[in-house]
Amino acid sequence: MQLLRRQFEIIQEHALRDTPYECCGLLAGIKHPNHKGEYENVVYEVAPCVNVLYSGKEHGFEISFSEYIDVEREAKSLGYEIVGSYHSHIDSEAIPSNNDIGFARPGHSMIIISIQNMQPTAVTSWYRRESGGFHQETIQVME
Ligand SMILES: [Zn+2]
Repeated sequence: MQLLRRQFEIIQEHALRDTPYECCGLLAGIKHPNHKGEYENVVYEVAPCVNVLYSGKEHGFEISFSEYIDVEREAKSLGYEIVGSYHSHIDSEAIPSNNDIGFARPGHSMIIISIQNMQPTAVTSWYRRESGGFHQETIQVME
């Protein structure tokens, strides 16, 4: 996946601001066909969302359906679509939980940023194939 540096910084700032709770947000951009005949997500905008999980926000997140729809509408008005999500893990590895795996939609990328001792220590991205597979992908930061 590719991500503009400024958007990458917004994710880091959001994650630190929301600690000790997990932050969450959506990624807007385009699905770009790559040389392997697969799609690569290119992120041009990030939309910080409210973590509406009722309890346990230290170890989980939930984005409301209405906020998802609002962001999707705004993305479309810019010529983009939602291509994934991001959230933080507080004092744990940047590896998807079972809930994360369930949340990931086909064709979407999921960025996880690990915050330990109020510092971002790792950022990973995970791609849900249309066929159902879920694997780690590289993050290419664009200037
Ligand atoms: Zn998670």
